[in-house]
Amino acid sequence: MANKEIPYKIFLSESELPKQWYNLRADMKNKPAPLLNPGTLQPMTLPEMSVVFCEELAKQELDDTTPYIDIPEEIQAFQKMYRPSPLIRAYCLEEKLGTPAKIYYKFEGNNTSGSHKLNSASAQAYYAKKQGLKGVTTETGAGQWGTALSMACAYFGLDCIVYMVKVSYEQKPYRREVMRTYGASITPSPSDTTQIGKKMLAEHPDTTGTLGCAISEAIEVAVGKEGYRYVLGSVLSQVLLHQSVIGLETKTALDKYGIKADIVIGCAGGGSNLGGLIAPFMGEKLRGERDYRIIAVEPASCPSLSRGKYAYDFCDTGRVTPLAKMYTLGCDFIPAPNHAGGLRYHGMSSVLSQLYDDGLMEAASYTQTEVFEAAVMFAKAEGILPAPESSHAIKGAIDEALKCKETGEEKTIVFGLSGTGYFDMMSYQKYNDGEMSDYVPTDADLQKGFDTLPKV
Ligand SMILES: *Cc1c(COP(=O)(O)O)cnc(C)c1O
Repeated sequence: MANKEIPYKIFLSESELPKQWYNLRADMKNKPAPLLNPGTLQPMTLPEMSVVFCEELAKQELDDTTPYIDIPEEIQAFQKMYRPSPLIRAYCLEEKLGTPAKIYYKFEGNNTSGSHKLNSASAQAYYAKKQGLKGVTTETGAGQWGTALSMACAYFGLDCIVYMVKVSYEQKPYRREVMRTYGASITPSPSDTTQIGKKMLAEHPDTTGTLGCAISEAIEVAVGKEGYRYVLGSVLSQVLLHQSVIGLETKTALDKYGIKADIVIGCAGGGSNLGGLIAPFMGEKLRGERDYRIIAVEPASCPSLSRGKYAYDFCDTGRVTPLAKMYTLGCDFIPAPNHAGGLRYHGMSSVLSQLYDDGLMEAASYTQTEVFEAAVMFAKAEGILPAPESSHAIKGAIDEALKCKETGEEKTIVFGLSGTGYFDMMSYQKYNDGEMSDYVPTDADLQKGFDTLPKV
């Protein structure tokens, strides 16, 4: 039995919560490449961005230089209802693994939306309200972002229009009802309410929808509707900024006990929870103050960092968004239909893409059965039923802990447990029934996606 001088849960008091977000870009020597206007191929300007996004959020998107940005009091007040999130020492998992490694996880699933997404949803809803808008539009895949945004919009008094990927709309009726309960209106995507949706339905009548298409629909509605703007729950630099509360809290909690992390691990779909968790650690690394190994874990079926190309690409299937330079599988890439593990976005945050390209972080990828094995082991040891997305980080952490077992090194591993899995029981059912299969795209499969990259 380990000597438990460190508590199972390290909590922070309200006065220790971050009052400013940390903008990692300010410390990056190689800044992430700017978003480009797809028509002119020139960097997007504030007026251009403000057609689609709230003005304050557009400013944050373009700000590569301000290291700390005040968190408005109203956002702090909302977040105090569910933050700080606990940093938990995984004593039970360590024991089960028989590892000398010390494992900590930051659990973001302790709010009704079930994930970290509420951190950015509350910020984005606040700025929309402050600008005097009537409402916001967005897309949601598995439903976590839509739920988080519905909650934030209900709190700040905004209309919330959600385009939900059709397959999730049908497979996750309760997720849909949670959003409706908070007052959001939900449309399965593709739909006949937009031009791009109609086009998709005409070309692919049997499509179950993609995140990329839902994004196109939500943007089309935002741009065409008076008093509405579009909001996005991941990928954008502003979202990573809002998510920095995860890393800032983690760092404060570790520092309180004089704990130094060696390895920081997170799952990466669009990169927001990972980008938020690693922000202060990567900041120290960029400033040459301390070194960390930082690992992004992604699904083998959608390996944007591990096997993607670093290139300008659209953020959506409908090719209506600005171009972002990122590790991408091509905006037409759709993971195999048997993929149940989340993290299915084709691209990656341009901040994380640049850091990865500069060799400042690593990427690992796992098949979904490996990930669910890790999820079940974690659930049995630590009690929390993890989201499939988060389970990628669990798998990464377990692998690193087992390496320590071989070498006898007492490394400190910190990973992000981005959410709970209660709305993912269809995926767990597949796993429990032995019906989960793995699909790893071949180089030829991936080449098809690369062939469609815009020539910039
Ligand atoms: C949305 C989501 C993710 C993936 O998004 P990122 O922007 O890559 O963090 C990961 N985990 C959970 C629980 C999510 O809801």
